[in-house]
Amino acid sequence: MASTKQLEGQVALVTGADSGIGKGVALALAQAGAKVLINYAHNQAAADEVVKIIKEAGGEAFAHQTDVSQEEQVETMFAKIIQTYGTIDILINNAGLQKDAKFVDMTLDQWNTVIGVNLTGQFLCSREAAKEFIKRGVVEGVSRAAGKIICMSSVHEVIPWAGHVNYAASKGGISMFMKSIAQELAPHKIRVVGIGPGAIQTPINKEAWETPQALNKLLELIPYNRIGQPDDIGKLATWLASDEADYITGVTIFMDGGMTLYPGFADNG
Ligand code: NAD
Repeated sequence: MASTKQLEGQVALVTGADSGIGKGVALALAQAGAKVLINYAHNQAAADEVVKIIKEAGGEAFAHQTDVSQEEQVETMFAKIIQTYGTIDILINNAGLQKDAKFVDMTLDQWNTVIGVNLTGQFLCSREAAKEFIKRGVVEGVSRAAGKIICMSSVHEVIPWAGHVNYAASKGGISMFMKSIAQELAPHKIRVVGIGPGAIQTPINKEAWETPQALNKLLELIPYNRIGQPDDIGKLATWLASDEADYITGVTIFMDGGMTLYPGFADNG
């Protein structure tokens, strides 16, 4: 799918890039030639490690702490990437978290925290990226698009999830957020695409794969019968950000080993 160095000369910002899917995407983009800002919320050592891996492989990256739910911090982060690399071409809205509770027990704080990071964070980062893309426009020889925004959604954009209503609402919200800004920004040659991962092996869902029993139960939900890896999403994000995907905007690509195929109906329901 992806040839090497297809993002040469481009600048990317990956939110939540110190762990899991964000780390996998940041490494893949760097391998494809992009310079990458490694955003993190708390774990500087983990972010520095991602920068180190990229630099040792001959790439360029730096780490920057920002809580994506905070407007001023996001504005500062965009000023920093533009000051360091001159502009930005690719935004990967990846940062996300869960604060699970039964619906009737869910606190307003649990609700607001998840919506604040998972949905408002994507709004704040996308707005700053879009301003820079519009101001700069298409640069010939760099990319056919003026900019690319990739929104990390989830299969829970379409699969309801009891006990996780804040998370599912944030991902359902990302779907219409992504489509609406894709519609608004297309005339500016900006593409906006969603990725809907299924179960990817990261710290966010550790209890679902850390024992053989848990993993077997999880695999009942995955027709393709394996858990996904951050690298799977890294390859997809790289391709979506490249000119090979230049005619794709306003859709979510699910990468889930068939989790959205209603596996409960595989044996006649
Ligand atoms: P993870 O816990 O490994 O990583 C989450 C990242 O988000 C971390 O880097 C963390 O620093 C960052 N983050 C959290 N709060 C932040 C904040 N306020 N500001 C900036 N960064 C913040 O989990 P992951 O599985 O890699 O999740 C990444 C994204 O993928 C999330 O949006 C998640 O909803 C989505 N996703 C994951 C799966 C899966 O199975 N792992 C499935 C579907 C969707």
